[in-house]
Amino acid sequence: MAMIPCGSAIVPQCGIRPQLLFRSSSVTNKMITPSLSYRNSTQMRCLASTSSTFFSQESVHAPFAAGSSRTQHPRRGTRFVVRANTDYYSVLGVSKSANKADIKSAYRKLARTYHPDVNKEPGAEKKFKEISNAYEVLSDDEKRSLYDRYGEAGLNGAGAGAGGFSNPFDLFESLFNMDSGRGGSRSRAVDGSDEVYSLLLNFKEAVFGIEKEIEISRLDSCNTCNGSGAKPGTQPTKCNTCGGQGQVVSSVRTPIGVLQQVTTCSTCGGSGESSDPCTTCSGDGRVRKSKRISLKVPPGVDSGSRLRVRSEGNAGRKGGAPGDLFVIVEVIPDPVLKREGTNILYNCKVSYLDAILGTTVKVPTVDGMVDLKVPAGVQPGTTLVMAKKGVPVLNKNNLRGDQLVRIQVEIPKRLSSEERKLIEELSDLSKGKTPNAKVVTG
Ligand SMILES: [Zn+2]
Ligand SMILES: [Zn+2]
Repeated sequence: MAMIPCGSAIVPQCGIRPQLLFRSSSVTNKMITPSLSYRNSTQMRCLASTSSTFFSQESVHAPFAAGSSRTQHPRRGTRFVVRANTDYYSVLGVSKSANKADIKSAYRKLARTYHPDVNKEPGAEKKFKEISNAYEVLSDDEKRSLYDRYGEAGLNGAGAGAGGFSNPFDLFESLFNMDSGRGGSRSRAVDGSDEVYSLLLNFKEAVFGIEKEIEISRLDSCNTCNGSGAKPGTQPTKCNTCGGQGQVVSSVRTPIGVLQQVTTCSTCGGSGESSDPCTTCSGDGRVRKSKRISLKVPPGVDSGSRLRVRSEGNAGRKGGAPGDLFVIVEVIPDPVLKREGTNILYNCKVSYLDAILGTTVKVPTVDGMVDLKVPAGVQPGTTLVMAKKGVPVLNKNNLRGDQLVRIQVEIPKRLSSEERKLIEELSDLSKGKTPNAKVVTG
């Protein structure tokens, strides 16, 4: 049985899809019961999980490709061709004059008995298929009439399409509303969700990295029930809502036909089981626990960096994989050092005299105080580069950014009279005048 992933749900494909046998639209007008309406040649079988919709391709194309789908499955095709002279009436144990209700009731009774999920005897599956095929023919007016007149040969004739049969399990499920319990465990395991932890770091911790022990809170397997969710000593039973299927099917009539919608059973959450809930975890199989884990923060992280710790998120359910832990970093800013990527910006004030004459200043860096030579005649707004005094590049720790020092020249707002005198002399000097000349003039 092939499994076709369908969003979060897995939809089993039991052999091939119904091969639609009749070219004419007369089948459409001869629907026997609403529950058989899936065989309408214009309909699509729509299998949908809660999150997605899936149109079974075979069904969509079946009216045009009944022959080719038979070639793709020669084993099945031949099997039904060689069985030449089946008496469908005796297979179902009904008389030739049986009405539709008799035929349906005979099929239901026999199909229940011989369904391979229930009946493990050798030959049960073969018998189940025979019953299904017999029902498929006798429940359809056109096929039954062909069969009555020409036997199986009538069904294999050109006028009747490829002579294949619907998948017996599909037929069964359509009549029993998927109550067969088949594949009840298909979506039992549910993976755990991711958990998020917010980590506050100071400026230097983010720059150089740090190993931190953090206490996280996440859903962990319940010790009382070992994660099963069932009260210890009790056995889980089949969910009544979905019959152990984990999914429920509903039919929606639309202009393009009847769509069958498969959704996860809300009663059992898709597990197909109901049980006496464990009192510790209320049946979830998980409880919130705190755990201390050692976290290695690499150098170079910044606010918004996300660190992923595999499998330290919430535990899965029923054997599902645990989620991951995402640590979101937030960095407390430094009052003077401003980070810009891997570079660090710093504004350095120098007096106008130091700017003119040049000086050496002590500059704070992430490595501590470092001497910086300011050249004579430095212009306001000049940026001096302190190479490799910045932030290590994340995951490339041999690379490091720079510290960029922007020079701010401070001009005094007030001068002492002595300073003023000297500045005036300096001013005169730069204008090419002598102090004496100035005195004479004044
Ligand atoms: Zn259920
Ligand atoms: Zn428990």
